[in-house]
Amino acid sequence: MDRPHSPSHPARLSPGTLAVSAGRPDRTPGAPVNEPVVLSSTFVSQGVPVAGEHLYGRSSTPTWEPFEQALATLERAGHAEAGLPTDGPPAVVLASGMAAIAAVLALVPVGGRVVVPRHAYQVTLVLLRELADRGSLTVELVDVADTDAVVAAVRGGQDVPAADLLWLESPTNPMLEVADVAALVAAAHEVGTRVAVDNTFATPLVQRPLALGADLVVHSVTKYLAGHSDVVLGAVVTDDPDLHARLVAHRTNHGAIAGPFEVWLALRGLRTLALRVERAQQNAAELARRLSAHPAVVEVRHPSLPDDPGHARASAQMDGYGSVLGVRPVGGTAGADALVAAVRLWVPATSLGGVESMLERRRRFATESLTVPEDLVRMSVGIEDVDDLWADLEVGLDAARTAADADAV
Ligand SMILES: *Cc1c(COP(=O)(O)O)cnc(C)c1O
Repeated sequence: MDRPHSPSHPARLSPGTLAVSAGRPDRTPGAPVNEPVVLSSTFVSQGVPVAGEHLYGRSSTPTWEPFEQALATLERAGHAEAGLPTDGPPAVVLASGMAAIAAVLALVPVGGRVVVPRHAYQVTLVLLRELADRGSLTVELVDVADTDAVVAAVRGGQDVPAADLLWLESPTNPMLEVADVAALVAAAHEVGTRVAVDNTFATPLVQRPLALGADLVVHSVTKYLAGHSDVVLGAVVTDDPDLHARLVAHRTNHGAIAGPFEVWLALRGLRTLALRVERAQQNAAELARRLSAHPAVVEVRHPSLPDDPGHARASAQMDGYGSVLGVRPVGGTAGADALVAAVRLWVPATSLGGVESMLERRRRFATESLTVPEDLVRMSVGIEDVDDLWADLEVGLDAARTAADADAV
């Protein structure tokens, strides 16, 4: 197949460099530097299909390959240090993060068992519940920060077989709990359980689950990888050629394919991932620190904070702490709603991982887990100037305090 070449010795380059250099076309004089977007539903055929040849846009299309190559290279950037092969099958890009998650859940045999964090992304839980209600599989919810409890759930018991799939999300959305990924993968593999990690919050620059032993990595590309709140897209990465082939077959046969234009935009976004993540993480850690000291704040959740329950684990496992944080202002739900309504620079919207800072009270969704506090505001910190973000938040926190005072009267 006419696959875009990765630079030689890609594993020796740092992840930030790979975000720029991986998945480039061959250096042919006069050729474009970036792979152009190809908008064609079908491809000229010379009779018997040749292996790797593009046939039809639902099976493969040239614009997917550079993105898939770049993402797979980034997710394997830690492989050389971990003593693993530095190349393998490329990623599988799909129509959305949920299409990617559905493709992975379709690998679970009918009647299989899935162990999942109780605070995983809410639609992941909705989909699992739907599959469980239909009798396709059974689901066990766990506190992903409690390693012993997760291991016990994965192993099963007397009449309960070992899980077929351990689903991990770390840090979790929106509670920001941190799982001990390497320990959980090791325990799962002892009993033959596959492990998938939703790496959306961390990005491959901050956490590389394949090097920690995971079988599959899932992304909502919509978030940090594309990074500009203009694309909905998902992807799965695996080192296992058999799982890769099954995911590709699922994409072709179920048809939840990515549009070439969206994938082209996502790769354009990916090129600046390192700069965006670095700035957003700096902003998030600084805002978490300032929020912790603010009198109108009841609780801040961010693994960068020394007293956060996930701090030690995140420090050992990740190259940073991510840029989503959770805050509970004074005034309960009314305080949280007042905060969201009062800010002018922060965008009140769902989603995360864009250049623009966004916030929302998560429990406004009926489907959000009931163990998420009603007044938790999830904040996706962007790349604006941190003092501008803080000044705007101070206005929001004043509004929360006013709401709390009104409540007390
Ligand atoms: C947004 C999100 C998803 C779903 O991705 P879509 O692209 O919206 O389908 C999955 N997991 C996490 C952690 C997310 O934040």
